[in-house]
Amino acid sequence: MDSGSGIRIVFGVDTITQLPEELARISGKRALIISTPQQLDQAEELRQLIGDRVASVFSNAAMHTPVDVTADAMRIVEEQQVDCLVAVGGGSTTGLSKAITYRTGLPQIVIPTTYAGSEMTPILGQTADGVKTTLRDEKVLPDVVIYDVRLTLTLPPDISGTSGVNAIAHAVEALYAKNKNPATSTMAVEGISRLSRALPIIAGDSQNIDARTDALQGASLCGQCLAIVGMALHHKLCHTLGGSFDLPHAETHTVVLPHATAYNAAADPRAMQQIANALGTESAPSGLYDLGHAVSAKMALRDLGLAEGELDRAADLAVQNPYWNPRPIERDEIRELLQRAWAGDPPQT
Ligand code: NAD
Repeated sequence: MDSGSGIRIVFGVDTITQLPEELARISGKRALIISTPQQLDQAEELRQLIGDRVASVFSNAAMHTPVDVTADAMRIVEEQQVDCLVAVGGGSTTGLSKAITYRTGLPQIVIPTTYAGSEMTPILGQTADGVKTTLRDEKVLPDVVIYDVRLTLTLPPDISGTSGVNAIAHAVEALYAKNKNPATSTMAVEGISRLSRALPIIAGDSQNIDARTDALQGASLCGQCLAIVGMALHHKLCHTLGGSFDLPHAETHTVVLPHATAYNAAADPRAMQQIANALGTESAPSGLYDLGHAVSAKMALRDLGLAEGELDRAADLAVQNPYWNPRPIERDEIRELLQRAWAGDPPQT
């Protein structure tokens, strides 16, 4: 199956057994397998599968795609005459693969193992000297994405919950995006619905294949929304908190999403109804807050390491160069929103 963006998608359980034929399809003879240090065993499993078509394994992928890590990987690409990339992991690993392709044009097979959705987007975030910048370029899109539900079974329950809410955040903002359209809204509703049904099950039974399947399908749909439509206040807040205060990516999305949704509630009641229906709740912001609790996520920025004294600066930064948002961005209201998110209070609608 192909996605709208021309990415070839393989989905199922044990689909990595198809890696050799997918590699042949892109004429890959000297693959660089990419992972984080934590997922070296999965990288080695792939090495066993494709044997003499592996040039090397690079297992130093890191959060937010630091350019010095990319430079290390680039040296191996050149020394080992790598002709394609095989990335196994979450958004951090996919980010490194995209960064190499951005510099070399090499074809990529991406095997996602979280719900971040980066594999579906032409977006590449990179960090240099502590500053993260984001670019959008179709050339970083993978050629093939292999979703193997089995590889997600090892994703720890806490990371599964927050990673899934990170995916839901793409869909929530897609529903009130300036350039939303019926196709992205349909994908967004389906993505939220699958993930919100699956995540609480996974929190109690991380090996549940049906729930893992629902979650991974939902995550792919949410990633496709992120690829197509513009993101708004929620993503701006999370980029500010991640980029300038070093807060963890998916966990921050989980705390902020109910509050950002509440901020926009009155500006787009139809989107709120769609989100609430997909969650199976009365209210979109409260439903998202309850979902965070249902997956036992931390629901306060103070528990993620943000000091209360930083809230003023966070509000100042978050209102600079704002993304388009359905409701105008007011500095004092954003400061109040951050206070509630910091304390872990329910969203104010
Ligand atoms: P991650 O890739 O950093 O993974 C988190 C941790 O979980 C890592 O240690 C990883 O090795 C481990 N892990 C992942 N899958 C596992 C599995 N199945 N079993 C065991 N351990 C596993 O986290 P993430 O949230 O997927 O990605 C975050 C990064 O992705 C951020 O830098 C974010 O900006 C980026 N991102 C980019 C886009 C985009 O479109 N460009 C979209 C979403 C996220």
